[in-house]
Order: sequence, then structure tokens, then C-alpha cells
Amino acid sequence: MNKNIERFIRYAKIDTQADENSSTIPSTEKQKNLGRLLVKELIELGLDNAYMDEYGIVYAHLAGEGEVIGLNAHIDTATEVSGENVKPRLVANWDGSDIILNDEYSITLKQFPHMEQVIGHDLIVTDGNTLLGADDKAGIAIIMGVLDYLKQHPEIKHHPLAIAFTVDEEIGRGPKYFSLEKMQADYAYTVDGGPINHINCENFNAQQLTVQIAGVAVHPGEGINTLINALQLQAQFINALPEKETPFYADEGYWHLTTASGSSEKSQFSAILRNFDREKLEQLNTKIYEIRDQLAHKYPTAKIEVSITEQYKNMKKYVDQDPRPVNKAVAAMKKLGIKPVFTRIKGGTDGATFSKMGLVTPNLGTGSANHHGRFEFLSVQLFEKMIDIVLEIIKK
Ligand SMILES: [Zn+2]
Repeated sequence: MNKNIERFIRYAKIDTQADENSSTIPSTEKQKNLGRLLVKELIELGLDNAYMDEYGIVYAHLAGEGEVIGLNAHIDTATEVSGENVKPRLVANWDGSDIILNDEYSITLKQFPHMEQVIGHDLIVTDGNTLLGADDKAGIAIIMGVLDYLKQHPEIKHHPLAIAFTVDEEIGRGPKYFSLEKMQADYAYTVDGGPINHINCENFNAQQLTVQIAGVAVHPGEGINTLINALQLQAQFINALPEKETPFYADEGYWHLTTASGSSEKSQFSAILRNFDREKLEQLNTKIYEIRDQLAHKYPTAKIEVSITEQYKNMKKYVDQDPRPVNKAVAAMKKLGIKPVFTRIKGGTDGATFSKMGLVTPNLGTGSANHHGRFEFLSVQLFEKMIDIVLEIIKK
């Protein structure tokens, strides 16, 4: 096994799962275990200014010529499946047959037809009990692989590099403590995607909706013209939302109910609101306020509170304003004989928020797939190729 894959496996074995129910920064102290290892390895690779700040974010800089290029990947892993005791395993030269992870779980082409593209590759898989964490430790290992190569080849002229390994990306808190001042980059890339020929410079606009309803509780026998049932009002509110704009029917943008609870006196529900198109999201907001007003008009003694909070924005607007990183990625891929494809992320990345903060940051792939679960895998060949792509991007 080569050094780059060994490096990935070393990182994958360290549990760095984020926890959305924690209020500490980072959300789990264990993320710092990988952070500390990365600082040590960065220093060994010659980036002796590497450090981890009080939030658990690792920064490092490497001198070069020209614009400063930022490279980012995230330390934490997803919350859906455990990241404890990860046991990565190599399936050499995969022939497309079922990969038995354990007694219960297998990876099959039937379930994951897109894996036809990695037949013949060496795959790193899990033992079926955990996720792999290639999201995003493959991204970290790619960036470290690039730095290692530069150390072995001091003759290569390259841009100055600003490295940031962030925490809590998976629970949307990554960019909150990220510092443009510490980063000092002109533009950047997150290495946090799937296919290595993909460049993502568009993602959802995202909001969170919360609706709290206070009804009027009296004995139902005395309820005439008085009793207002908060659960019933909740049902009316939800039913008035456009059904055709839910994930079952729509994938360009939707509202998706995430929780609903309460009693006849008080109820609340939450939904996520997503759309590539900001205007359509705003139309949905207007519709939501209209529903509130209509219900409030019908039941003036009820209290209906609607709160819509911003989560992240589509980065397209910002990426369009500074085409340098996208142009550089396209040129690098073409030079290596790879045809770039532009895909949109139906979700968010730290880069979306960095872009809004002023650091334009499109997303690149890692060669991994089936993220956030036990079927996650990394193609060794695609991973290695991605190191070449990033090297080509940062070359002078
Ligand atoms: Zn990720």
C-alpha cells in the first residue's frame, strides 16, 4: 500500500464524529485528536507554521509565487452512522461482484449501479459497522499528499498555499469560527465531493422554518366559539403548504417537514426550505406568511409565530464574480485529459459560506462515494488521480 493510502487509513481510523446535540466547540473534543496529528504531520512536511486554534481548526501556510490558493477539507464525520472503531479494508481490483461487508451488509452493483464506473479499481470499504469517513478524510489525505509531493520535489514552482482543516462541517457549524484573516487566501477549494471530474459551484439556498402555535384551551364541552386546538391548526398550516413542492415531487427546490409535535394547547413544527433559485425560495416564504395571516384572521385568539432563519446561500453568485478558481480547475483537468463536469450540490458546503464571507471556494471531488453510511467507499485510483489534479491546479 502506498504512502497516500496509508495516510488516508491512518486518518479514517481516528473517530471524529460530530454531534449536533453538543454545544461545545468543536462539538466533539475527539475531533482535536486528528487535528493534533495533522499539525504534527504538517510540520514534518515542512509547514512549520502549522497550528490548531482554540476552535479546533488547523491552519498552515506554504510559501510560493503568485495568488494564494486555499485548500480546505473537514475533519469531522457525519452523524448518521458511527465513526467509532472504523476498520478500513482494501478490495483489490474489484470485479463488480458483491462486496460482503459483514453478515448483514453487502455492497452490490444492483443497489449502487453508479459503481460500474469503479469496476477494476482498488476500493477501500468498511466492515459494515461504521461509515468510512472518506467524507472528508479523503479530502484531507489528498491535500496532505499534495504537500508531501511538493516536499519530495522542491524544484516544482507553485502558488503559495493556505491550508485549513475545519471542524463540524457535517452539522453546519464549520464556517462559524473560520477566519479569513488566519486563512489569508485569494481564493480556495473545498476537496469534499465525489467524482473527481466534477466541479461544484452551485448549491442550495437553505432556510429553516419553525412554526409555533398557541391555541386556546378550555373544556371541550365549553368549547363553542372559544376552544382553538393547536394541533388542528398545525395540520391546517401544513396542509396549506404546496404539496407538489416536497422532495417526493420536486428536486430543484422543496420544503421538507422535519419535526411536528405538541398538544391541543401548544404545537410546533419545523421544516427545511431549499432552492437553487433564491426568488423561488422567497416566493415560498411569502406563501408561508400568507398561510399564517389567513389562519390568524380566521382564529384571532390563537397565536401563530413563524420564524425563518438563513442557513446557507447558493455560492453561484460569488463564484461567477471571481472565475479564477473554476478556470484553474478546468485547465488542470483538461491538461490531465479529464473532461470537467459542472454539477450542483443539493446541500451545502463550507465553501458556500466561505464564498459569502468573501473567499470564493468551489468544491472538488475526492474519488469516494455513498457518503454518510456504511456503504461508503474510496477508489484508490480516483483518489490518486485527484492528488494529480490538485497538484496541477496549484502549479505555477
Ligand atoms: Zn463532507
